[in-house]
Amino acid sequence: MGAKRIAVVGSTGSIGRQTLEVALAQPEALEIVALAAGSNSRELADQVRRFRPGTAVLWEEKAAGDLRVALGDCPVRVASGMQGLLEMVTAPEVDTVVMAVSGCIGLEPTLAALQAGKLVALANKETLVAGGDLVMACARARPGSLVPIDSEHSAIWQCLRGAPGDAAASCDTGDVERLILTASGGPFRTWGADRLAAVKPADALRHPNWLMGPKITVDSATLMNKGLEVIEAHHLYDMPYEAIDVLVHPQSLVHSMVVYTDGAVLAQMGVPDMRLPIQYALSYPRRWPCSPVPVLAGQALTFEEVDGARFPALGLAYACGRQGGLMPAVMNAANEVCVHAFLREEIAFPRIFEVVEKVCGGFDRKAALSLAGVLEADAWARQEAESLCRLF
Ligand code: NDP
Ligand code: MG
Repeated sequence: MGAKRIAVVGSTGSIGRQTLEVALAQPEALEIVALAAGSNSRELADQVRRFRPGTAVLWEEKAAGDLRVALGDCPVRVASGMQGLLEMVTAPEVDTVVMAVSGCIGLEPTLAALQAGKLVALANKETLVAGGDLVMACARARPGSLVPIDSEHSAIWQCLRGAPGDAAASCDTGDVERLILTASGGPFRTWGADRLAAVKPADALRHPNWLMGPKITVDSATLMNKGLEVIEAHHLYDMPYEAIDVLVHPQSLVHSMVVYTDGAVLAQMGVPDMRLPIQYALSYPRRWPCSPVPVLAGQALTFEEVDGARFPALGLAYACGRQGGLMPAVMNAANEVCVHAFLREEIAFPRIFEVVEKVCGGFDRKAALSLAGVLEADAWARQEAESLCRLF
């Protein structure tokens, strides 16, 4: 079999860079044929010189112009905007798309890639939160076409391999009683409510176990990340919300667990290193050398309940997920706006939750679930959240 021909959307980010590291370590098996980022023309130019893809896309038109100039001597097609992304992920030379942008912007390219028959390795959880029903309808039409990169969902996928059925989107969860997602608890696991009120972006960006992009790092601090992951797990594994639990596990060695009907609990363990789930999404059903094996001797593993009073975002995400329809898209969009406002020091840390909750509470539209409906609800929620952020 020839190498897998891979397009990376979000190649200059945390997951994107680690995907390129994995590809460098497996040159026989993985070939990078297209790269996309938002505006970072300098890093994308370096990546193009190194990996020689046929296509490079930058979301921002002006940055794409800079990239064209910087790569004047390279045989690469440079494009921009949503049209550029859609053409890139559906191109015939691509067979696998690693979706590693941050935010709901990944929804349209993910749908397009699935509809074009590509394998999608999905890190971009906001896409499943906002448009999970739409994405899963495409994925179920071709079982095995969507595989998770998020470490918890990869862990569940790996634990389900013992179950009848195999690939994430088509696995048979008939013998499965519950899923348990583990959470590190973030940097504020032990902080009291009064300290949380004065948190600065630099505090929130100091994650104890994982080095990630800024949006997901703040989500890990509010525990909204775990809420997004509960909705992600609901869609990927077709499990009701009542059967998805969250446990805080500060050591981040157990990445998630599957509880079977006979009481057996299967867990996947490993050092906290995203290259492992990224690589597994690309090597499946094989495994290749990747991360160090965790040292377990003398290591205590602890599990505790989430404190819903200090971290209300998780409960809100369950409620929005249960409500379904467009509500998760609204919650996700409001959260994206608030996280970026917090990072710009425009709102205080506790306001992230307050604004998101208020935006969700004010949403009462009923619309048939469609891409246009999701994008419309997303735009409405962004506008609401932006005006509420200005009030605070
Ligand atoms: P980063 O912020 O580090 O990277 C985001 C990437 O997306 C950058 O390459 C950025 O380009 C690019 N980008 C932004 N906007 C656009 C756009 N409109 N079009 C094309 N590319 C764009 O994020 P992470 O890598 O941390 O996270 C990516 C996704 O993976 C998120 O959904 C996150 O929740 C999920 N995830 C991340 C994990 C991690 O360890 N980081 C773990 C599990 C899930 P530029 O550099 O030019 O801005
Ligand atoms: Mg995760």
